Amino acid sequence: MKICSKCGVGKPLDAFSKNGRGGKRGDCKTCVAEYMRKWRQWPVVKEHTRERKREYHQQPVVKERMRERRQQPEVKERSRQRDREYRRQPEVKERKRQRDRERRQQPEVKERNRQRDRKRRKTPTGRERRRISLIVWRALKNGRLKKTPCLICGATKNVQAHHPDYAHPLSIVWFCPKHHCALHADIRANPARYRKMFPRRKTKP
Ligand SMILES: [Zn+2]
Ligand SMILES: [Zn+2]
Ligand SMILES: [Zn+2]
Repeated sequence: MKICSKCGVGKPLDAFSKNGRGGKRGDCKTCVAEYMRKWRQWPVVKEHTRERKREYHQQPVVKERMRERRQQPEVKERSRQRDREYRRQPEVKERKRQRDRERRQQPEVKERNRQRDRKRRKTPTGRERRRISLIVWRALKNGRLKKTPCLICGATKNVQAHHPDYAHPLSIVWFCPKHHCALHADIRANPARYRKMFPRRKTKP
């Protein structure tokens, strides 16, 4: 039994670490841990630790080992999961939105997007899509067509028109951006299934 010099509680000897001189420290393991925890939060110490970590990770051997570790399926999956959770935080989302907005304002990015749109417009599919979106826009304007909630989740905000068949510009299924994206991923993955569901007809008979 030994009394801790910090918290004053009597504890068994194995609750104290060695002091390096063959004896035991005066403060118990709990108190030492608490002290270290506080110590690590000091900005100077934090900066120092970060620096040391950086140095350590810059060694080629360590770099190689970490690269191998990241290839492991469990590690990959865990870091994917962590990223997903991180991105789901409202502040992180808002920061990303802000960054994207700023990026779109940059003259080079603006110009690049303009050029991409121009190029797209010249392809047959691009022209076709423009023609159809104009038809849809007009139909929405004069009330012939109404947007409906997302077919999957029922969201009403920012619904997008999906055309099972471009030959029928006004037969539309509406989806929220997320589910529209998911649908197209699914179509890319199982083209045969969707071809069977919506056989392609010629645009112009
Ligand atoms: Zn103690
Ligand atoms: Zn949805
Ligand atoms: Zn679509």
